[in-house]
This record gives sequence, C-alpha cells and structure tokens, in this order.
Amino acid sequence: MFFFVVYAVVIWCIACRYRRSWRGFGVVGAGLIGCAVLAWLHWRLYIWSEGRFYLRVLQVMLYPYALLVTTVGLFLASLPRHRPAYACHTCLYDMEGLLPIISECPECGAHWKSGAPPPAAAPDQPVEASNTSLAAIPICQIPPIPA
Ligand SMILES: [Zn+2]
Repeated sequence: MFFFVVYAVVIWCIACRYRRSWRGFGVVGAGLIGCAVLAWLHWRLYIWSEGRFYLRVLQVMLYPYALLVTTVGLFLASLPRHRPAYACHTCLYDMEGLLPIISECPECGAHWKSGAPPPAAAPDQPVEASNTSLAAIPICQIPPIPA
C-alpha cells in the first residue's frame, strides 16, 4: 500500500520538475504504462494460477488510482514554467509593482533579496516609504482638524 503512495508522489514530483517539456509528459505516460502493466499482471496471475488468485478487488482499486495518477500528473506537467521577474524568493509571490514601496512580501513576510535591484520607483510614489511594511502605508491622508 505504501508503494502506491510513493509511486504517485515520485511521478508527480518528476512531472512538476520537468513541466511543459516532453520529459514531464513522458513520465506521466510511463506512470500510466506502469499501472497498465500491473493490471495486466493481475489478469495473467489469474490465468497462470488457474483461478486461484482472483484479484478483481485490486483491479477495481487500480483503475481509479491510475486515473488519479495520470490526471494529476498531466495537470502538474501542464503548469507554466514562468517565474515572475520580481518573485518572492520564499513563496514566489509576484511582487512587481510593490517593490519600490514595500520590501517585504505581503504573503509570507520575507524580506526582498535578489540579484536584481528592485524596480525604480515611479515619479508619483514616495521613495522614502521604501523598506516599510504594507501596514505602514497610509490608505488615505486625513487632513488635520483646524483649531
Ligand atoms: Zn513571499
């Protein structure tokens, strides 16, 4: 039983690693062929043992398992390889447009660090507000109450 979990995870990891390439889709196809070979072995075992090993229950579980491994593998192999230019190094959150103002990721709180410098601030954005968190940016400017 543990083998089937490891089998699926290995196929999904390789499909995700080589997504959008022939290797990613190839490993999903190989995983499907592996399930088909196992189904064939179940059928042959029934014939070779002259009906003593009847693995119909295992085949009923094997077909949805093969469908699950193949469907999730195809989904993972189809995911885009594109990484945003200003992605957070921890969670890959796209921080484009935030970096001149915010240097911390709003998703995970990681500080910006990359070989590329943050994009230059637009003329209407305050430069002195850099290296602040999102909570420090005023949403609106409230004028002082006259005395
Ligand atoms: Zn992040």
